[in-house]
Amino acid sequence: MPATIIDGAAIAATIKDEVRRDTALLKERHDVTPGLAFLLVGDNPASRSYVRSKGRACEYVGFHSHTVERPADCSEADVLEQIDAWNTDPDIHGILVQLPLPDHIDENKVINAISPRKDVDGFHPISVGRLVIGQETFRPCTPAGIQELLLRSGIDPSGKHVVVVGRSNIVGKPIANILLQKAPGANAIVTVAHTAAADLASLTRQADILIAAIGRPRAITADMVKQGAVVIDVGINQVPDASTEKGYRLVGDVDFDAVKEKASAITPVPRGVGPMTIAMLMQNTLHAAQRTVR
Ligand code: NDP
Repeated sequence: MPATIIDGAAIAATIKDEVRRDTALLKERHDVTPGLAFLLVGDNPASRSYVRSKGRACEYVGFHSHTVERPADCSEADVLEQIDAWNTDPDIHGILVQLPLPDHIDENKVINAISPRKDVDGFHPISVGRLVIGQETFRPCTPAGIQELLLRSGIDPSGKHVVVVGRSNIVGKPIANILLQKAPGANAIVTVAHTAAADLASLTRQADILIAAIGRPRAITADMVKQGAVVIDVGINQVPDASTEKGYRLVGDVDFDAVKEKASAITPVPRGVGPMTIAMLMQNTLHAAQRTVR
């Protein structure tokens, strides 16, 4: 039987509606409107498009958002000064620096400069440390979105063998850390695979829940997947397609057409994990604003 398709776009829309409802309550009860600030350095079209989408989501849920743009040759000091100003601005509850930054700006230094109270991307070392030791914190948006997708699809990771392929700081490591916590909605047995795996398929075939965060189009083929596994495809890859206006289309890290015949549930690309990232950013920013009135 073909897999259930996990509709990330629909689940993300539900989360944004919940955030919109709770934002209205926060305004009504405490006169606080969540505020999210974006810093965009340079004119990378993808970064610009991401910031625009996030801004539209802010508008939908009822946040105010503020985008500051700096040219690609701006100084690191200029970026740090802007972050400093937002750190102390009571109307700004979340700060997002759109990555990547130009090479002459030290990304770590910039992330470290964001107040952990406003670190809605969850990349600050304090947020990462708190996540690892199971304390309340801002969870990075894409991995937090993966956990929500599982739970809202009725898939409890507890006791399941989760195999994550990829160990980046923004997806692989945090999703592994989220799912291995001894906590409701987690409690999984987690394996993390990467390029040093001599026989990747022998690991992925053990997965009850397989999470692919690789960045290689259709790298996970049907023979690498156990019958009945849940497959979460984080990958967003452009492949040439002359039949489209742009000359390319997006595919995931999973060979969707073949794997869906073997999996019990699977996320598509697009409309799978992708929309969850922005929804979780909205949720994190709402939580940041709620914390100011607790
Ligand atoms: P990175 O390039 O930072 O990390 C890729 C990881 O995959 C690395 O750990 C790498 O191993 C591992 N890897 C690469 N090739 C193989 C292979 N052949 N076998 C085993 N492991 C391999 O990517 P990201 O984590 O940033 O992103 C992964 C994918 O997810 C990309 O397609 C990206 O576009 C997408 N993405 C989607 C998001 C969304 O909102 N849906 C958000 C973020 C990312 P090693 O460490 O050994 O090099």
